[in-house]
Amino acid sequence: MTAARSRLPPLPTIREIIRLYGLRAEKHLAQNFILDLKLTDKIVRQAGSLQGSHVCEVGPGPGGITRSIINQGVKDLLVIEKDTRFIPSLEMLTEATEGRVRVACGDILRFKFENAFPGHIKKEWDDDPPNLHIIGNLPFNVSLPLMLRWLEAVAERTGPFSYGRTRMLLTFQKEVAERLTAPPGDIQRSRLSIMAQHLCDVKQCFVIPGTAFVPKPQIDVGVVHLTPLQEPEIKVPFKMVEKLVRCVFHFRRKYCKRGIETLFPLERQDLTQEVFDTSGVDPTQRPLWLTMEEFNALCLSYRNICERIPGMFAYNYR
Ligand code: SAM
Repeated sequence: MTAARSRLPPLPTIREIIRLYGLRAEKHLAQNFILDLKLTDKIVRQAGSLQGSHVCEVGPGPGGITRSIINQGVKDLLVIEKDTRFIPSLEMLTEATEGRVRVACGDILRFKFENAFPGHIKKEWDDDPPNLHIIGNLPFNVSLPLMLRWLEAVAERTGPFSYGRTRMLLTFQKEVAERLTAPPGDIQRSRLSIMAQHLCDVKQCFVIPGTAFVPKPQIDVGVVHLTPLQEPEIKVPFKMVEKLVRCVFHFRRKYCKRGIETLFPLERQDLTQEVFDTSGVDPTQRPLWLTMEEFNALCLSYRNICERIPGMFAYNYR
């Protein structure tokens, strides 16, 4: 298919679509739209070449980003939108593209990816990423829980990642985008930084000022691109990493030893000592400064203890 043929025919502008279909942004649903197609083009370009690819767009709303995705020459675009008011205007794009746009009305948090795309696009995990991309500008109260869920799915190679190392281009509140990408020592370094960076190559592409949205939110927005890694940086099961990292960052201003202590009952503080003896990590290091290698060493020591002492992983402080 040539790039010229893949472009959309003349259509009403997004502003006209909003007026025609009466699509007022619902504040209680945290809806903020991007009407500037130069900006949506810039966002979509961060995903790399989409020519001939399969794309899943989450939360298309009135369809600004959707149009930019189509104009990149995609072969197949599945949009998943929860608010039924947007469905007729999205179906107009199905018609305009002779069926290249598939519209699903539903909640992305419940959506089953496993049969949503053809099996032949699947790639082995160690191979290059599949020709499947996820793109979305969702409300931030949805994008963060979704990200956490998808990180677990990356670890388990399920959902969107049953196709291989599916790439994601998503927007977050600027501070969350900074947490996702923060290196050791950065003030924004947090549990989210470790969980994301141990499983994905994470890049903050650029920041969109709040003024670019209609209506204008109180915040700026970071565009983040994530590619699942072939090998996770931390080589223990997701839940174990999550627990250790959560405990360590619970005391983010203290020595990292303080958080590790909470993994074990008071009377077994010899195990805290064992974690530091076997991992070689400095117990007086601050959580903010711990590197991915140090988290890996801490998690491996913790896993060894949990494997040796039945029930230890289930122990919960307080
Ligand atoms: N992508 C459009 C844009 O950039 O102009 C709309 C952005 S608006 C912030 C978020 C969109 O996601 C809305 O259309 C909203 O209805 C939709 N949405 C919210 N929660 C959703 C969910 N759980 N599943 C699917 N769509 C959702």
